Amino acid sequence: MEWYRTSTRDVLKELSADPEAGLSASAVETRLSEYGRNELKEEKKKPFIKKLAEQFLDPMIIILLLAAIISGVVGEAVDSVIILAIVIVNALLSIFQEGKAEEAIAALKKMSSPTVKVVRDGRISEIQSTELVPGDLVILETGDIVPADMRLIESSNLKIDESSLTGESVAVEKDAAVTMDEEVGIGDRVNYAYSASIVNYGRGKGVVTETGLNTEIGKIATTLSTMEEEETPLQRKLAGLSKTLGILVLAVCAVVFVVGKIYGRETLQMFLTSVSLAVAAIPEGLPAIVTIVLSMGMGNMARHNAIVKRLLAVETLGTTTYICSDKTGTLTQNEMTVTRVYVDGKVLEVSGSGYAPTGEITGGGETVAPESMPGLDALTAVASLVNDADLSESGGNYSIVGDPTEGALITLAGKHGIHEEEIEAAYPRLEEIPFDSDRKMMSTFHENYFDGKISSFTKGAPDVILKRCSHIYKDGEIIELTDAMRQEVLDQNTAFAKQALRVLGFAFRNFDAMPSDISTDAIEQDMVFVGLVGMIDPARPEVKDAIKECRTAGIVPVMITGDYLETAKAIAEELGILREGDHAMMGEELNGKSPEEIREIVKTTRVFARVSPQNKVQIVTALKENGEIAAMTGDGVNDAPAIKKADIGIAMGITGTDVAKNTADVILTDDNFATIVQAVEEGRIIYANIKKFVTFLLSCNIGEVLVVFLAIILNLPTPFLPIQLLWLNLVTDSFPALALGVEKGEEETMLEPPRDPQEPILDRKVTITLIIQSIAITAATLGVYYYALKTHGDTGAGLVYSRTMAFTTLIFCELFRSFSSRSIDDTLWKIGFFSNKRLVQAVLLSLALVLVVLYVPFLENLFHLVDLNVKDWAIVLISSLIPLVIGEIQKFIRFNQSHPQDTQE
Ligand code: ATP
Repeated sequence: MEWYRTSTRDVLKELSADPEAGLSASAVETRLSEYGRNELKEEKKKPFIKKLAEQFLDPMIIILLLAAIISGVVGEAVDSVIILAIVIVNALLSIFQEGKAEEAIAALKKMSSPTVKVVRDGRISEIQSTELVPGDLVILETGDIVPADMRLIESSNLKIDESSLTGESVAVEKDAAVTMDEEVGIGDRVNYAYSASIVNYGRGKGVVTETGLNTEIGKIATTLSTMEEEETPLQRKLAGLSKTLGILVLAVCAVVFVVGKIYGRETLQMFLTSVSLAVAAIPEGLPAIVTIVLSMGMGNMARHNAIVKRLLAVETLGTTTYICSDKTGTLTQNEMTVTRVYVDGKVLEVSGSGYAPTGEITGGGETVAPESMPGLDALTAVASLVNDADLSESGGNYSIVGDPTEGALITLAGKHGIHEEEIEAAYPRLEEIPFDSDRKMMSTFHENYFDGKISSFTKGAPDVILKRCSHIYKDGEIIELTDAMRQEVLDQNTAFAKQALRVLGFAFRNFDAMPSDISTDAIEQDMVFVGLVGMIDPARPEVKDAIKECRTAGIVPVMITGDYLETAKAIAEELGILREGDHAMMGEELNGKSPEEIREIVKTTRVFARVSPQNKVQIVTALKENGEIAAMTGDGVNDAPAIKKADIGIAMGITGTDVAKNTADVILTDDNFATIVQAVEEGRIIYANIKKFVTFLLSCNIGEVLVVFLAIILNLPTPFLPIQLLWLNLVTDSFPALALGVEKGEEETMLEPPRDPQEPILDRKVTITLIIQSIAITAATLGVYYYALKTHGDTGAGLVYSRTMAFTTLIFCELFRSFSSRSIDDTLWKIGFFSNKRLVQAVLLSLALVLVVLYVPFLENLFHLVDLNVKDWAIVLISSLIPLVIGEIQKFIRFNQSHPQDTQE
């Protein structure tokens, strides 16, 4: 059926849909089973074989495979098989773990997927867009992503951007009333809305005609495969590091070969030693652990109200240097209460709190009764009519549905005896020009309120409204607005704003008949000014501390708001965003400035007021050009470019539009500034932890290489067999490393300046730790090996025994020092030995896995190991403590150097 060529009545009939009540729950259920869920086919999963093949393309794995082949060729068939088995099991585990990480990310994405407003069983409810079925009545608002193909049945100034479907970037004006006779292209079907297009402006209602793969976008969905998650800089850096290690190991192998030859060793033996070296040098478990830790970090942030959509953002968050935040709802509670009104040249006070319409409006101590002050009557009537919010009451509790700013106006009108539903019924809305944050105004049309036949009512930013007024309504009369009066209103506006009040202005205009041109230029001009209201919007209590935390963490908080400058300044001062010496300015002052000038401005300006969405882009661009890492919040459809441009684009989960959420890297489910700061902290912790386990794993690898290398130089037999090293690198080391990835944050996390994103993972401190630890591991292991060779001989059973001692010492060095690796700066005394329970469990698990290869006879043979007696164990355990002890001493010395005063006391 060609829906766009069918009248709305026939469409509704065909789909058995009720234009008022929508579908019933039972109808939805049957349709859902008939048509399936409203989703494009799940992206085809990568076939298992392909994933496996990818694993084997990894240079590290190739080296291991080569090792297996060489072992096989030189006659060590059993070893060859074991290496292969370990490599395959590792590849399978990696695929499994990465699959789990991907699942976790997909689940998070789902949490952030758009919801839709539908009418079902006569009630408006919000559901996941995947639950839509043909016949559903969907409400479309500015910023929504159209969730399915639908025939429009109502539209008001509806403009839809269909570029995702047609490539045409100019939004299409839609009109539900049109029925088309002829066949036209997709871009011309003005009574129809397509899935995945964006509501740019206005409102509408549609009845769903097609869902899922039957939608136009569904038909071409094969070309729309979702973006592949790119590698994060960290993952790239680590890949680079492995490559360097690979090259290094080749060089070491060459040296070992030459040295071996000089000592007159057999070529065959030298091959085996090279294999051991290669295995020793590669941190086999590392890539998988990084992915797992990053994705666990995402899960953790989601539990703290920040849904991070990309792995990359987890990392970038930790480097944030500027957080640019909206004011309303993010820094403030977005719970508005009108406390002041300015009409007929007088300031009135309003009592009462919350949205309950109980309270008094008083002027000069006297209650102002309804119909005793024409200005107040007019203002409250206008305020409740040019208004989309609804006040609802249950059990004496009042709440609003819609914009809190508008809700507060309904409450104000209620305090003046105006009942929302009654006045709406008496003066129904004929037309409207919806609010947008560029114009900062909204207008509606009604019949017969003022003298004219038709009136437009406008509310919005007072400065903007006043500029468009030529008259003023005073004591019931429309008189010309003189410059003096204009100034008086502006002064009053500033006075309210300085008390941190959010101020709105009201105006109307009379027409003899409904104007044909309903555009802002034609209507929102030559208006009659009515008055002002000032409402409080208390700061969120937790934000003040969050701002302080930002400062100590070297992050600059900036307020970017659509509100008036004085209001913004008052709140910014209260919260500590604006301090002495900081600047505040209007967004429009940026217009016409050169990029260089804006780059200077953003260095000192902490409040930008009356900002347009373009200004946001200018600000974020300048910050980025200054080398800052900028996080920027946004909620409206026009905010998407700024969100996209920011290093971290943040969308509001509650008040944000689909478009904002879709573009953002992070969605705040509680719209709270404090959540951003917490996410930054979390980002820093994750990075610090990654650094910890990278250091942990790499120092072990370097230690292994050094032991093998020095043994050759000292003309000793190869101390480890490849399979022993593989067991250590892949199995026993991985669990403690993972546990280090979930280490709690350190005290200093938010006391240090943000990390430079260019900073290498192996910074100075880490490199020093790495060197010291590698040397300590080498000393302990090589010492024990040397002792064992000397006491038990270097051939046959003596060699097997010595290797067992070396292997066990190395593993225990790892298990012990994993505790020390928990903090780069703080000693174990400070952080507590067993405060990371996961690590304790991980170490116990690894311990069990060592004992298995040491004492299960069959495995013991495979791994070329022997039983150890009590004395052996004593030697092993004591030597294994060396790296741990040295690590702690190193921290202690460093602490004393950086805090000399603490030790003098
Ligand atoms: P922030 O940008 O910090 O969230 P904001 O809510 O003030 O603050 P916008 O939503 O862009 O930002 O609004 C800009 C201005 O438009 C407001 O300061 C107010 O004067 C006016 N305004 C806000 N909501 C409405 C509305 N529903 N109707 C008319 N005018 C409004």
